Amino acid sequence: MTFNSIQTFLERIAPLANITPQELQQLQTPVRELSAQLHVRGKTYPAYRVQFNNARGPFKGGIRFHPEVELDEVKSLAFWMGIKTAVADVPYGGGKGGVTVDPKTLSKEELQELSRAYVKAFYQHLGPTKDIPAPDVYTTPQIMAWMLDEYETLTQQSAPGFITGKPLELGGSKVRDIATALGGIYILEEALHKLNLKDKTAVVQGFGNAGMNAAKLLAEHGFKVVAVSDSKGAIYNQNGINISDLIAIKDKTDMVTSYANAQKITPAELLALPCTVLVPAALSGAITKDNAAEINAKIILELANGPTTPQADVLLHARKILVLPDILANSGGVTVSYFEWVQNNMGYYWTDVEVREKLKDKMVTAFNNLWPDYHKGPHDMRTIAYVHAIKKIVGAQRLRTQ
Ligand code: NAD
Repeated sequence: MTFNSIQTFLERIAPLANITPQELQQLQTPVRELSAQLHVRGKTYPAYRVQFNNARGPFKGGIRFHPEVELDEVKSLAFWMGIKTAVADVPYGGGKGGVTVDPKTLSKEELQELSRAYVKAFYQHLGPTKDIPAPDVYTTPQIMAWMLDEYETLTQQSAPGFITGKPLELGGSKVRDIATALGGIYILEEALHKLNLKDKTAVVQGFGNAGMNAAKLLAEHGFKVVAVSDSKGAIYNQNGINISDLIAIKDKTDMVTSYANAQKITPAELLALPCTVLVPAALSGAITKDNAAEINAKIILELANGPTTPQADVLLHARKILVLPDILANSGGVTVSYFEWVQNNMGYYWTDVEVREKLKDKMVTAFNNLWPDYHKGPHDMRTIAYVHAIKKIVGAQRLRTQ
């Protein structure tokens, strides 16, 4: 989504949230846009940190290393993090960072230097009470560890709450690795209950961190996962796929299509399969006006960011398919990031069971905050989620300035 399209979207939705033109203007304007050129071994990489809104708490959002990173995109993602933290009801604003680089072309040493250079460029604006980064596309717990080390060296203090998504040994949280998928499952179970759906079949698009963990957790929660896909193809077995076997095959061959006990289907056929829940967990723009009419799921659980286009949203809502929107469905990741920061600030760490319980509580509450307005109609759940988030952000802003 470009920043322009976010502004158009906000203008459309603002009347539902009952905010003034000045408040809308403030909501559309980032607090700070930082940019720098990072120099590593004779090469220069553009880098950004956008701090969008901190009315509800410190800025929060990941750092992306990708060749297509540019300021407009970082700005959109920073805005969108502010919405997500409000929907999840964690006490943060929105931020995002990025470096325009193809990290696959860098050696481990270069990657470490680049990560440290990022912190050197922006550290005065970052910190546990200012702006808390995290991993995003192509950034890892190891990169978080280098960034933490650089920050603590520059500021001469121990500050584990400076960044989340760290390795456990450096103050990471239990459950963080599966948090996005697990949070999604908690929301899904709530939705099944509300819709009184008893059958439990699932189709999962994408088999990376979000998709693979979702497939595994769906199977553990009694779902029959009938189809999955990755970038190389899709497979289907109406009696269900054995997810443990599939993970073993995927680990070995890097292709879900190597799994023997299923037929190969096309990616388009996968999206059209009849099922209780379809889980897009790969790309943005997977469900469009061109294929929305073929979707045969009762619920869409958006673990990917932006998998459904605005036109498709309208078509799905008209067909009474419940779309659990990304800003709610995949907010388990940022919620456990918040738990990581809380544990760092306390210096006291929770067990796996404790983190799961707290995550479930947060996700179920977030869903139930939206459900009554969705149920009463006429809007889809994404619209309801945005309206709730905007009211919270603007409400916090009003308390500071009125
Ligand atoms: P990942 O890189 O681990 O996995 C992506 C998967 O998608 C891979 O299995 C890849 O093969 C597959 N894929 C790529 N193109 C595909 C195609 N055309 N059809 C089917 N599969 C395809 O990434 P991830 O971390 O799992 O993230 C997936 C989505 O979830 C992204 O939109 C991401 O922004 C979103 N998300 C992830 C997290 C998280 O914690 N991992 C949190 C929030 C949102």
